[in-house]
Amino acid sequence: MALDQGTTSSRTIIYDKAGNIISSAQKEFTQIFPHEGWVEHDAMEIWATQMGTAQEALLTAGLTYQNIAAIGITNQRETTVVWDKATGEPVYNAIVWQCRRTADYAERLKPCEDMIRRKTGLLADPYFSGTKLAWILDNVEGARERARRGELLFGTIECWLIWKMTGGAAHVSDYSNACRTMLFDINTLKWDEELCALLDIPMCMLPAPVECSAHYGDTVPELFGGPIPITGSAGDQQAALFGEACFKEGEAKSTYGTGNFLLLNTGDKAVPSKNGLLTTIAWGLNGKVTYALEGSVFVCGAAVQWMRDQLKFFDNAAESEKLAASAGDSGGVYVVPAFVGLGAPYWDPDVRGALFGITRGTSREQIVRATLESLAYQNEDLLAAMQADTGKSLASLKVDGGAALNDLLMQMQADISGTEIVRYASIESTSLGAAYLAGLAVGYYENLDDIISAKAIARTFKPSISEDERKEKMEGWHRAVNASMAFHVRK
Ligand code: ADP
Repeated sequence: MALDQGTTSSRTIIYDKAGNIISSAQKEFTQIFPHEGWVEHDAMEIWATQMGTAQEALLTAGLTYQNIAAIGITNQRETTVVWDKATGEPVYNAIVWQCRRTADYAERLKPCEDMIRRKTGLLADPYFSGTKLAWILDNVEGARERARRGELLFGTIECWLIWKMTGGAAHVSDYSNACRTMLFDINTLKWDEELCALLDIPMCMLPAPVECSAHYGDTVPELFGGPIPITGSAGDQQAALFGEACFKEGEAKSTYGTGNFLLLNTGDKAVPSKNGLLTTIAWGLNGKVTYALEGSVFVCGAAVQWMRDQLKFFDNAAESEKLAASAGDSGGVYVVPAFVGLGAPYWDPDVRGALFGITRGTSREQIVRATLESLAYQNEDLLAAMQADTGKSLASLKVDGGAALNDLLMQMQADISGTEIVRYASIESTSLGAAYLAGLAVGYYENLDDIISAKAIARTFKPSISEDERKEKMEGWHRAVNASMAFHVRK
């Protein structure tokens, strides 16, 4: 049973060994925006919706706790909860990964950025949990003192859920989540004293770091009528990498959702990035840690939504494929979908989107095609950054997320990246990854090969254009991006 605690909804999916969905349930919860740029969730609502979906998924399939081999959790990363150890009550709303309230904290940490990068693989940015936790300790009356006395606990979402499900018996955070706090040394696998001192965070409130596949505890019997072992945990992107069976060094996955997240397995080496990527822990398994390079692009499927909702080009996202195909080619049009600035590898918050190369004859179909191409170009920029950082070329690219269902886009990606694209039959890789991690710990899966043999490939896409054509397209894209960056918004 996979608990998939996302940014907008809590889901539970019960899988069989082959990865077929036996039952699932989903509940949305409240997004709280107290100020411009602030985002919060009610941690108790997260808990209630998550348990509600778990109970519903069991009930609708006529299952009991005895039918569940194990629970695995995957979660929105970085979102920060602080709660009272005695009562289990959060002292403040959860501060969500998207929340920018601690931009000034992050700014103050800039002089230490080299040290932060070396230890955590991250940048000094409000995205990560550390400054969010410091904000709660600074702004909730008496919180830092109470934390020092050992009365308050910190956790990211997986930690909060495990603590609640075990009735407070387990206060743990798996490596893939711990490494997103900016407080965790990814080399030593320990909370870092220097970083905690920098943000004045009492270390006694931090959870015990644990592997991603291990027995953390059992659910209290009141929840499901009897105990279920909780044995898997990973942040959403790392769970997707695992769910896509990218177990070997050089294997990568790209998730084409609202935004785009690309993770490359770099094996037992934490590879520092010179190209705007993050170095992160993919998972800890059987006493070994696997690292990854991570790149994120803010706008992917969101560009398809933009064409649907703002430009009214079509009624549903899937139609983009037919329209783009009918264009034949994009007629030299380039779209730069930098609606909210550009993420990796450019990291420029002040760029805005642009359309280049249009003529009197440019059609809607061509703009749709050029927009889809831009999603492939952005992804290729990440792949190129990864190759530059590792000095190695990619073994394969596996894909998931809503827009990965677009065959034309996947063919464009194969062409532009000159690499084979593999799409599994199930693109539910995030929750599958959590289920695999949990299943491995209890012997439901014997080993990684057991998982791979259970996976069915739906389709592969092979490169079909020449190296010259590929270079020419990328060169056009880079001219378009550079031109966009020359036109910064005024602040
Ligand atoms: P998220 O998890 O970020 O909400 P999903 O993985 O559910 O995203 O994917 C939804 C996104 O994929 C939407 O932005 C949607 O516009 C896009 N999308 C869905 N189907 C297609 C398609 N066939 N072609 C292109 N984009 C698509």
